Amino acid sequence: MTMSDILDFDRRHLWHPYTSIEDPLPVYQVESASGVRLCLADGREIIDGMSSWWAVIHGYDNGVLKDALKEQIDKLPHVMFGGLSHEPAVALGRLLVEMTPAGLERVFFCDSGSVAVEVAMKMTMQYFHARKESAKKKFLTIRSGYHGDTFHAMSVCDPVTGMHQIYSGVLPSYFFADRPEVGFYEQWDESDINSFRTLMEDHHQEICGVILEPVVQGAGGMRFYHPNYLRRVRELCDSYDVLLIADEIATGFGRSGELFGCDHADIVPDIMCLGKALTGGYMTLAAVVTTAEVGRVISSGEPHVFMHGPTYMANPLACSVGIASLRLLRENDWQGAVKRIESELVKGLAPCRTMEHVADVRVLGAIGVVELERPVNMTQIQQQFVDNGVWVRPFGKTVYLMPPFCMNTADTALLTEAVVRVVAGQE
Ligand SMILES: *Cc1c(COP(=O)(O)O)cnc(C)c1O
Repeated sequence: MTMSDILDFDRRHLWHPYTSIEDPLPVYQVESASGVRLCLADGREIIDGMSSWWAVIHGYDNGVLKDALKEQIDKLPHVMFGGLSHEPAVALGRLLVEMTPAGLERVFFCDSGSVAVEVAMKMTMQYFHARKESAKKKFLTIRSGYHGDTFHAMSVCDPVTGMHQIYSGVLPSYFFADRPEVGFYEQWDESDINSFRTLMEDHHQEICGVILEPVVQGAGGMRFYHPNYLRRVRELCDSYDVLLIADEIATGFGRSGELFGCDHADIVPDIMCLGKALTGGYMTLAAVVTTAEVGRVISSGEPHVFMHGPTYMANPLACSVGIASLRLLRENDWQGAVKRIESELVKGLAPCRTMEHVADVRVLGAIGVVELERPVNMTQIQQQFVDNGVWVRPFGKTVYLMPPFCMNTADTALLTEAVVRVVAGQE
């Protein structure tokens, strides 16, 4: 098939994320990828500033990750997890218990981040069902959040950007606290937690769980909030007998400069959702890790079991590449790499700070954000980025970067220079 055949069929028949099937934005055909570069079918090579949505932390075409998959595919690509187990699941489970904050030790594997959020929310409900506290069935979350695209995950996404009005009447309606306003680097102000505290005080008899993204709100606006907010949330959950779900699907595995977002506040959630970078971007896999107490209570009630079991649960191929990815993370100096990229993003994006049409420039770990005053024209800006040799996919007013951890100083410079050029042209 020629490139135009491929793009033609794609345009007529394939749905892409958050797009129209009738009038889609243009897409670019990727032929292959290596290191931090995507090779387009037209021969161009562009630097990937997105890590394929937080996932590809070790870069493309990574020998260690490929070998893990090749070895596993000959041994056992898949087997049902009902009544059976295998070494990849056990070895990955062991790594997750070791790496996640102390106290998290029960692991549920599933297929994607959204499903992990569904599982975490079901666990929370089943926890209070087992305790015969049937009034506690609602969730409390914060505005500007993003937790996935399935129904219950959607119910705790920001009601405006999550388009809740489309699904009204079907989507459960939960409690939304004001989003945190005090930024990560700002002076903490105790009043930032007031809205959350008031909702908790007024409704804790109905609330089973709080779900939020620790410190970094991702797809809901790329905002970095103060770790004390998270500390107060933990304290309030403890005071009012509410479980805390940390959605670390984006923040997990070093992206924000700590291994987990929760580590910025030294708190341990009752339930943690992991995904995205878990397999280094090679296979879809997610995990829900809970305290022993959550597991104990769920198992003590009727029906003594947790009611969930995906067909591809703990898929051995996905687990094997997850093990390889987490080992690479441990062996490489991920923290050094993220710190280096952080300072390169700060320096490289600095010229955007003085541009009139830029509202804010912020960096945390290997995440860089340039927020414009007005939404970008997606078709135009996408092409400008590609023409400048980089892959950057903004949303709304937000141009953001999250490079693979293996990106070197020269490539980070090329990436940020391209962003500065393209942003400068948006006036
Ligand atoms: C991406 C994301 C999800 C959803 O994960 P999928 O694998 O796309 O279903 C959930 N929560 C957060 C914080 C995410 O960034």
